[in-house]
Amino acid sequence: MDIILVLPIFSIVINIILLILFFTKNVNNSGESKIYKTMMITNLLGLILELLCSYAAIIYNSQRAISEIIFKGYLLYLIIFSLELLYYEFFVSSINSKDNKKLKTFIVIIVSIALIGIGILPIELITKNNFTIRYTIGPSVNLTYIISIIIVIVMIFFNIKFFKSIKNKNLWAIYAFYLIVGAAMIIQFLQPKYLLVTSAQTLVILVMYCTLENPDARIAELEKQARDAADSANKAKSEFLSSMSHEIRTPLNAIVGFSNGLVDNDKLDSESKEDVKNIIMASDALLELVNGILDTSKIEAGKLEIISSNYSFPKIFDELVLLTKARLGEKPLDFRYSYDKSIPEYLYGDAARVKQVILNLLTNSVKYTNNGFVDFKINAIRKGDIIRLIISVEDSGIGIKKENIDKLFGRFERLGVEKDTTVEGTGLGLAITKKLVEMMGGKIVVQSVYGKGSLFTISLDQKIVTGEELEKLKKEENSKEESATLIDATGKKVLVVDDNNLNLKVAERLLGAYKCNIECITSGFECIEKIVSGEKYDLILLDDMMPKMSGKETFDKLKEIPEFSTPVVALTANAISGMKEEYLKYGFNDYLSKPIEKGELNRVMKKYLR
Ligand code: ADP
Repeated sequence: MDIILVLPIFSIVINIILLILFFTKNVNNSGESKIYKTMMITNLLGLILELLCSYAAIIYNSQRAISEIIFKGYLLYLIIFSLELLYYEFFVSSINSKDNKKLKTFIVIIVSIALIGIGILPIELITKNNFTIRYTIGPSVNLTYIISIIIVIVMIFFNIKFFKSIKNKNLWAIYAFYLIVGAAMIIQFLQPKYLLVTSAQTLVILVMYCTLENPDARIAELEKQARDAADSANKAKSEFLSSMSHEIRTPLNAIVGFSNGLVDNDKLDSESKEDVKNIIMASDALLELVNGILDTSKIEAGKLEIISSNYSFPKIFDELVLLTKARLGEKPLDFRYSYDKSIPEYLYGDAARVKQVILNLLTNSVKYTNNGFVDFKINAIRKGDIIRLIISVEDSGIGIKKENIDKLFGRFERLGVEKDTTVEGTGLGLAITKKLVEMMGGKIVVQSVYGKGSLFTISLDQKIVTGEELEKLKKEENSKEESATLIDATGKKVLVVDDNNLNLKVAERLLGAYKCNIECITSGFECIEKIVSGEKYDLILLDDMMPKMSGKETFDKLKEIPEFSTPVVALTANAISGMKEEYLKYGFNDYLSKPIEKGELNRVMKKYLR
């Protein structure tokens, strides 16, 4: 066999292997992959034509017409392959449909000129050294050169124009084309006996396969793109939910505040009071929902933290019982509750979250039980300074179907209550509960018989508070008890800073009970102005989320004022647990979450205005 045919034959083998690999594995149907497929097939045809050219050279003298067709066919191949590469390059660089149209017109024109020109123009075979050197010349070949140069110019133009918008920076396959095919052309021009150009193109295809079109790499890249898109969408959603929840809390604060004020208003007749109670109930439900969304978005963003501190266990238990009793309303349910009296009074853990998860189970039991009982028990096993709480909430309610138990802890999963529109709920509660329990190192299990009732059990380890710390807590508790009544703050001056007028009114009304002088302003600037001008206050309640100058910024400026020593309490609707610690760490004397709770306000007033 002629030695110069080895390279094209080797290239054919590579091309066929690539084709098999590509067609058996590829799942990607994008535009550029389709062009790549066509390029592979075209290159295979080119290699075959190149081999045929050797045969055509032998029969050139006897069957000139056939030989010329083969030579011209090969010239056409060169042009078509370059055009395909150009189109590929365009595809990964720009998706502008206007440019696409222009390029298609350009391709049609070039192909037409090539077909007619190469078809009509003469071609001639030159052979030297007894066939070892053979190449074609003539106007047909010259036209091919001219067209190829035009295509390369357009290609370079695209590279420059779209450099910044290139979708896949892995374009070095195209640069490889310039380099490899360019080098091959030069060598072949100098040493016409070597058949290099088509094999060089196979090499370009191989490079493209390895860098751009390898199905495995493609799939991985597509998966990554999909994952990135989903992640950023999810992040945007979480941020949106979080800011929405915050925005909703502010007006809700006003509703809850005013309604609570009205319930105690003696001027209202009993019917109106009933209406106000309903408003309070509805806004409480709304607040619960908003908190649920806030928690969910925090969990998703990985920002939810468990913040532990010492707490009184019986106090939490009593609060849970009270809240559940309030939820029972008119329902004829037997609500039983008990806890193991061996559980120490003070435990260390995230009390707010412990309360939240248990309350969710209790609320569900009340919601999904129409008659019979709800049984709430907390047992305990002690191991050294750790106590394992076994919290169980059992009911004789509607129960859960076996097939639904696995879905129970999914978000927005509401089972079998779709038609029962009277039961309010979002399907968020149990998803959050499970996550929180797990974050606190506990476990939650459910047993249920459809139509008979359910039993939810949480096991949760909490630390036991002992020694000196315990003594300190007991002392604090005693002093709190003796101060349950409102103080008389006559003569004291309180400054409230909040950009929202409704919030200011709520605060004013709540503070009214203490008989102090209240001054309300709507920005941090005014607050600083007042202090700078020498006004004296006994307490400042400062909202954090204010436009232009936040509470924290205002606080920083206040601290710079010499001799400023008024206690400053941060006010915020951002009631996620952990906020209090954050504000205290920042330097605020205390923290109140909005809607302002009467008990908390009382604590603050006593601490600073007594
Ligand atoms: P929500 O109560 O807001 O719908 P949850 O996540 O708390 O959301 O509960 C999810 C679903 O689990 C409920 O919609 C209900 O179908 C079912 N479920 C929860 N607790 C009980 C229960 N004690 N008895 C019967 N079904 C329950």
